[in-house]
Amino acid sequence: MKQTQDDVNDAKVYLNGLGLGSISAAVYLVQKADFDPKKIHIFEQNPEMDLVGGSMDASTKIVDGKPVYFMRGSRMYEDKVYCCTKELWSLIPYDEYGSCLDDQERNREECDVDTVVRLLHADGEKDSGHDLGLGLVETVQMARLMAIPESAIPTDAKITDYFSEAFFRSNYWYMWRALFAFQPWHSAVEMRRYMRLFFHRMSDMEKMTSLERTRYTNYHSFVLPALRLLTEKGVNIHYGCRITDVDFKVSGEQRWIERLYLQTAAGEPMEAIEIRPHDRAFLTIGSIVSNHEYGSHDQPVSMKPPEKPGGGYLLWQKIVAKQPDLGRPERFLRDISLSRMMHFTVTFRGNLFERKFQWLVERQMGRQSPLPLTQSPWIMHLHTYRQPFFPGQAADTCVIWVSALGEDNKGQFVQKPMYECTGREMLEELLGHLWGDLDEDEKAELLETSYCVPCRLPYGISQFLPRADGDRPPVIPEGSQNFALLGQFVEIPDGIVFTTEYSVLGAILAIKGLVDSSIEPPAMYFGQHDPWTNLATAKAILR
Ligand SMILES: Cc1cc2nc3c(=O)[nH]c(=O)nc-3n(C[C@H](O)[C@H](O)[C@H](O)COP(=O)(O)OP(=O)(O)OC[C@H]3O[C@@H](n4cnc5c(N)ncnc54)[C@H](O)[C@@H]3O)c2cc1C
Repeated sequence: MKQTQDDVNDAKVYLNGLGLGSISAAVYLVQKADFDPKKIHIFEQNPEMDLVGGSMDASTKIVDGKPVYFMRGSRMYEDKVYCCTKELWSLIPYDEYGSCLDDQERNREECDVDTVVRLLHADGEKDSGHDLGLGLVETVQMARLMAIPESAIPTDAKITDYFSEAFFRSNYWYMWRALFAFQPWHSAVEMRRYMRLFFHRMSDMEKMTSLERTRYTNYHSFVLPALRLLTEKGVNIHYGCRITDVDFKVSGEQRWIERLYLQTAAGEPMEAIEIRPHDRAFLTIGSIVSNHEYGSHDQPVSMKPPEKPGGGYLLWQKIVAKQPDLGRPERFLRDISLSRMMHFTVTFRGNLFERKFQWLVERQMGRQSPLPLTQSPWIMHLHTYRQPFFPGQAADTCVIWVSALGEDNKGQFVQKPMYECTGREMLEELLGHLWGDLDEDEKAELLETSYCVPCRLPYGISQFLPRADGDRPPVIPEGSQNFALLGQFVEIPDGIVFTTEYSVLGAILAIKGLVDSSIEPPAMYFGQHDPWTNLATAKAILR
């Protein structure tokens, strides 16, 4: 079907969700492809201001008259891997001084990371991370995994298939796991891709000077400015609207989406939308924050298994029921015990935590990399930020975030599995690991003047599950004339999931393929082709 210029001028774009995939597609359409914003429609299943931003949300609730802060995720960046994310930031105005990228650069100059205490072992033993703990065997294992072609890695291969026990007891693994949330049973292919793309940072594992964070939460530093931009330009954002199903039209080798079915947040069907051949539908499939459960300071998270997966997976299941070659959602939903993670956000009042923590790590808040508590049975990693982390946060308030990968294990100080614990008990366990000798008065003060919000993500690391060819569909499936798939469950060669980069790159590729072929994604950087990087890496391993 040939497109006329009138078709192109009249085309509309439809997207599901205000996650990063959709947001970046809309920003690129408006800022780079010169697409008419009024012809873009985004349907977000959640009501306005409730969990908007997908994984990149940030929330506040009032408890005893004071704000308590929490979010479903937290992110770290660096310069070379995050080239698409940074390009996206450059397209979003932040304030009168420039774009979100300008603000990021200012923030970095004001508060650079330069870690002194890189790990905390049993009994509070500090470790600089200078020794990566890799022997000859582990080094060879790493080199081997990086060197073999991806196609030579068997279906469903795990990280444990390529590394021996000692690797998983090395400082390198503890630091790696704290940064990326890999488990030993996760995909060897994903591990290999990460090792290749982050190779140039191996020599910086100790001090993490290349680590970047946004000034405030990601939601405040670039999701909200992006939503402001899109709204001001006239993009149509429909809150409380879920895309529940699609119809396809197939002719020979070609296929189109021709209808989108919608539902209100209350589950009432809405009028379906007819998608014309020259319209575009960019659909995010799956979501790592689906079926999340929050607890509270005095309440554990609910452990009721999800009755059905959330909107992104449901839509993918519906798509695959009609076009079976578009991936295998069940592969990522197959076993929650392999894909779950927990975390908690703590709001402290008074400056006691901040003072004690800065003393412990010999760094100001915001200048510290994630801190692995290597002997914690819950496998906790402490993330601290420059304060205030939420705009408007009071000067005597400090917000931290702790991720955890061992929710089934009993804690060392609280003798319960993590998932059974209230926020208060989680904090008690954290304090025990940080300061085994904490005096009772200080402990009571920290527990009484804080509020901890636990969160469980049953599919939080489902994107790392071992997989096979065809489990993830390409961004633009074969024969597609008017639709693309976005998010963490599409296949982008060499790309790394569980990153903003993957969602942004997918969106750029969708626009390049279906809207404006002149748009090029920034090229990926592979440091192993640079002799100086190789030398620095060898020195880091040998020291
Ligand atoms: C705990 C955690 C830590 C992380 N750490 C990092 C990090 O350090 N570095 C990094 O780069 N990345 C990190 N990430 C990953 C990054 O945040 C995500 O990969 C990215 O934000 C995913 O965006 P998305 O658009 O693909 O999907 P999502 O964030 O899942 O958004 C999907 C959106 O679509 C909506 N939706 C879904 N289905 C429908 C439907 N059918 N109809 C209407 N609306 C729908 C949902 O409500 C949601 O708003 C982390 C994520 C988490 C959760």
